[in-house]
Amino acid sequence: MDIELDELTKLIRPEIQQMKAYHVPESIGLIKLDAMENPYSWPEEMKQEWLSVMSTVEPNRYPDPAAKEMVAEMRACFDIDESMGLVLGNGSDELIQLILMALNDDACVMSPAPSFVMYQHIAKTLGLSFQTTPLNVDFSLDIEAMLVAIEKYDPAVIFLAYPNNPTANLFADSDLIKVINASSGLVVIDEAYQPFAQKSFLAEAKKYPNVLVMRTVSKLGLAGVRLGYVVGHKAITNQFEKIRLPYNINVFTQETARFAFKNYPVLEKQAKKICAQRELMFDALSQIESIEVFPSKSNFILFRILNKKAQIVFDSVKQAGILIKNMGVVAGLPEECLRVTVGSSEQNQQFITVLQEILSED
Ligand SMILES: *Cc1c(COP(=O)(O)O)cnc(C)c1O
Repeated sequence: MDIELDELTKLIRPEIQQMKAYHVPESIGLIKLDAMENPYSWPEEMKQEWLSVMSTVEPNRYPDPAAKEMVAEMRACFDIDESMGLVLGNGSDELIQLILMALNDDACVMSPAPSFVMYQHIAKTLGLSFQTTPLNVDFSLDIEAMLVAIEKYDPAVIFLAYPNNPTANLFADSDLIKVINASSGLVVIDEAYQPFAQKSFLAEAKKYPNVLVMRTVSKLGLAGVRLGYVVGHKAITNQFEKIRLPYNINVFTQETARFAFKNYPVLEKQAKKICAQRELMFDALSQIESIEVFPSKSNFILFRILNKKAQIVFDSVKQAGILIKNMGVVAGLPEECLRVTVGSSEQNQQFITVLQEILSED
């Protein structure tokens, strides 16, 4: 049978046809300061120990669907008691998808703008309505506007990244509580950057039935492992558990994460080092006259170029061998913003030197 390819693409929902794929830039040969990865590797003996653990993994067997042993380590490591439900995701991206997949067709999803792009990307993929409220100029929540929007749209899910990406700040706890109290839907507190902010709403998840706390091990130093988790009341998490694909956490991920949780102090120490580097980088960026730098509680820093086009600076930094992120035009964000991930001391110094040179040129 002859079927035209054009006819086949009509099988795809229109909102997906109109969508652009999530773009990840090529980074071969570049110093990667674009994706909030941990720059440090493990001590050699720890690496060897990990390899010997990996040699016991059986790739011919399906993983434990509940990842019981890993979850036990995880609960101990992050102090999540058995009274709370916990759902695992192949990265927290998958958890965003899982949460939104479970909603009614007419559900509204909400987040402040700017925030993490995946909330909108996945909501759109699923044909859900997505509403945003712009942040204040200092990137705090515009709580009045948000309460009005909650009243108007009655969102089934509100995502609040705490700290927020790409702005790097923490929202005020009192504002989060106002949102939680005003919402008759779920409020997902996305704590992807918790290791650098040392603040959490885990206790509130226990207190408020509509709060979910979502975490990932990606920014902590295991981005390649793809593991996220969401904590909430069991009545809610049990529903998500029904649609989680049974083997979404593979054998290598389970064993690597289990090993990493046992060695958590190593990761914690690296996070502390990154925080110290962040302060140094913030101070160095603050010294540069032609940029405005925004405070950070995360492992990245947002800054604005005042005397040049951000694209030109981005290109020149890349030309010098360093990949950062050009924010482009994003709702709720000033124009000409760049975002840099905090790397190792050498990487950061190299970046600052390159940036200083570029910005001092006419
Ligand atoms: C990076 C990031 C995530 C996604 O993390 P993965 O677990 O790697 O999918 C989620 N939320 C925010 C705010 C992020 O910045």
